[in-house]
Amino acid sequence: MDIEQFRKAGYQAIDRICDYYYSLEKRPVSSQVQPGYLREALPPNAPEAGEVFEKIADDYQQLIIPGIGGGVIQTTASDAALVSIVAARSVFVKQHPHIKHEDLVIYTTTETHSLGQKAGLILGVRCRALKVTVEDNFALRGSTLLTALEEDSKRGKHPFIIVATVGTTSSGAIDRLDEIGQVVKSHGSIWLHVDAAWAGVALACPELRDTVQLDSINTYADSFCTNFHKWGLVNFDASALWVRNRKNLTDALDITPEFLRSKHGDEGTVIDYRNWHLGLGRRFRSLKVWFVLRSYGQEGFRKHIRQGIALNKYFVSLLRPPFTLITEPSFALSVFRLEPPSLPAEQASQVSKKSLDDLNRDFYSRVSACPDILITQTLINGMFCLRFAVGAVRTEKRHIDQAWALLQSHAEVSINSWIG
Ligand code: PLP
Repeated sequence: MDIEQFRKAGYQAIDRICDYYYSLEKRPVSSQVQPGYLREALPPNAPEAGEVFEKIADDYQQLIIPGIGGGVIQTTASDAALVSIVAARSVFVKQHPHIKHEDLVIYTTTETHSLGQKAGLILGVRCRALKVTVEDNFALRGSTLLTALEEDSKRGKHPFIIVATVGTTSSGAIDRLDEIGQVVKSHGSIWLHVDAAWAGVALACPELRDTVQLDSINTYADSFCTNFHKWGLVNFDASALWVRNRKNLTDALDITPEFLRSKHGDEGTVIDYRNWHLGLGRRFRSLKVWFVLRSYGQEGFRKHIRQGIALNKYFVSLLRPPFTLITEPSFALSVFRLEPPSLPAEQASQVSKKSLDDLNRDFYSRVSACPDILITQTLINGMFCLRFAVGAVRTEKRHIDQAWALLQSHAEVSINSWIG
């Protein structure tokens, strides 16, 4: 959809909303359709080619409005991890009723997003970050997990979940799900949650499924999360969570006072989504995902992902000294920093008083002050680095060229002032 088509669609949507309000008095107060009717009415897959807004909006009115009620897609990857951890704890405690709460442990890695620690904070459960190394490209290996399990077993501690990541925030690292899965499987009662908040939508492209480790996810993961609102063309919020056995989740979160009982709920003919997340009420997040998938089609969605990766590759092809890549580019993310080549002896003695981190921090603050570009910072192996991520739908090659020109000019100023 180009900008003019979007404008037209927006006006049309407002017209349809107004017509809906005018028609309210003629509509039934509660939904008159049978549970499950929508599954019959809709195709099982997103269309291959994108469709026009009018057609999607017509289907919305004819098929979806009659059964309006929504579904549940989580708000964020942090919420998804939290409910998965609650489910994992509940399963573990049922299997091991004598283990004390204070001996439970959540495993993450030193590169995991804050979501593991935050869940630990909320649940009052210790969170242990397993160390990942530069040699392994910051991926968690099975051997590290095994060693940690042996150590904790000796200490009388009980890890009940490992939060692995496909595409860490900092550097795009991809934990080795095959190895982790084997360890988890042989251990018996540890839940594997895969946080692919940012990179998971790459699964739309067949050629990227091995990189995301789809086979291992299918074989080993108990829960898997990806955010459509990151790289998946949907505005905040739309965090999709899959669980292998949904009963583990719904049993863990099921509280049903009398006023929440319903005929269909008691009969088990509907999936009661309130037990899939923290809130009782929920937004109709699936609707925007549905509009996006239909209007881009599978091919449009894949094109967007491939374009992000191609533009990132193009950015990497431009990098030359003093710019240095710090980790392998991952999907549409590159981590780099300034590392000027050796200086003549008389300048080098000056420079030794300042570190490369000082140079990169100065460079980052100059770039951050510029209104035309946004890149973010991170620490990789203790080194201050910069993250260049492509993800927006309207990013083109010329924007990468502009970004590169800006980075070069700020680098020159920073290096000159660093040399002094
Ligand atoms: N996990 C990863 C890998 C992320 O990159 C991010 C956000 O940057 C998150 C989790 C947190 O996402 P959310 O804001 O949806 O909790």
